[in-house]
Amino acid sequence: MERRTLALLTSGGDAPGMNAAIRAAALLGLSRDLEVLGVRQGYVGLMAGDFVPLTRADVTGIVRDGGTVLGSARCPEFHTPDGRAEARRRMAEAGITDLVVIGGNGSLTGARALTAPEELGDQVLRIAGIPASIDNDVGLSGLSIGVDTAMNTIVDACDKIADTASAHGRTFIVEVMGRDCGYLAMSAGVAAGADLVLFPEAGRDDEQVVEVVVKTIESARRRALPPKRVLILKAEGVRISPEQLKTRVEDRLHADGHRGALVETRIAVLGHIVRGGRPSAFDRVLAGRLGFAAVRALLAGETRVMAAWAHASAPPPGARLSEGDPHCWIVTLDAVLAETARLLDGTSPLVRWRNRVFAEIESVLNPDA
Ligand code: ADP
Repeated sequence: MERRTLALLTSGGDAPGMNAAIRAAALLGLSRDLEVLGVRQGYVGLMAGDFVPLTRADVTGIVRDGGTVLGSARCPEFHTPDGRAEARRRMAEAGITDLVVIGGNGSLTGARALTAPEELGDQVLRIAGIPASIDNDVGLSGLSIGVDTAMNTIVDACDKIADTASAHGRTFIVEVMGRDCGYLAMSAGVAAGADLVLFPEAGRDDEQVVEVVVKTIESARRRALPPKRVLILKAEGVRISPEQLKTRVEDRLHADGHRGALVETRIAVLGHIVRGGRPSAFDRVLAGRLGFAAVRALLAGETRVMAAWAHASAPPPGARLSEGDPHCWIVTLDAVLAETARLLDGTSPLVRWRNRVFAEIESVLNPDA
């Protein structure tokens, strides 16, 4: 019988819940008599052969920890065929036959490149990805690990900010992570009761962003009902800086003769706070189920796939249901990365749908804006 060794790695931007995925994948692998190794520091460790055996005792208690116990890193050398050849050599030396990559788009692109048939030759190496990205920008998975925790962190911060904003009758612009994908700002904005969400997919230029913020504040001033505050969530992918936005909005409002409440604008940039912290219960469950689905796929001999999360009634195109879990689907990395490209360039139907929903939300929240 083939002796199988399963390696696990976390790569790219860390996300709360990565440890829960490591735990689930390791426990399933160990229960099926696989040797299980952890790779330290993502693809950097893969190229250096930095592998550590993982036992049940190593992973049992990590489910509640944020970040990743294996460490994560960016690895520019992995973009080169030589870098990937070195990684494959190290893996062959260690007898690694199966690899789970837990990470975002970049990491999954690296996973696909590592196992490209023209590079792999006759080496036995199966690979399965697990989407982990607080940006929720991985194609074909309704959710990625880390999104729920990050959203809860943002909502918690916004609730606190809203208290002080109401007390002083101020406008707050809260900037959150989300370079190319505004999902986090959008969903957190709904949950926090924001008056406006600025996200990159809306395609507004700086002038249009200033305009919609001014209109939102004017609309709130006209209503003048409690709570007398304006909360605006801005994804960092919306290019204008919060400082510039504040200055230009205040200048416009002053020029139009507005003074006092809500014209005073404050900024809060949440930054890396949003990445950290204990994973939410949902992220732990999501990570556990995706971790199981990924290892099950490898055990069944599949490769170059990813475990994806989707409702049973709306499977991703071309997906196969993971045995035993009505919400976990197995999709090819090729399909994932093609859909990711569409998400990022705005041609995915999902992006168009989100834009339509938010146009409607804006018109409901600020009907006279
Ligand atoms: P994330 O996985 O969070 O999107 P990155 O985009 O930084 O994070 O990618 C993590 C790592 O994945 C990179 O440092 C690199 O080692 C590897 N990677 C990213 N893109 C590619 C690619 N096109 N080819 C090979 N490896 C890649």
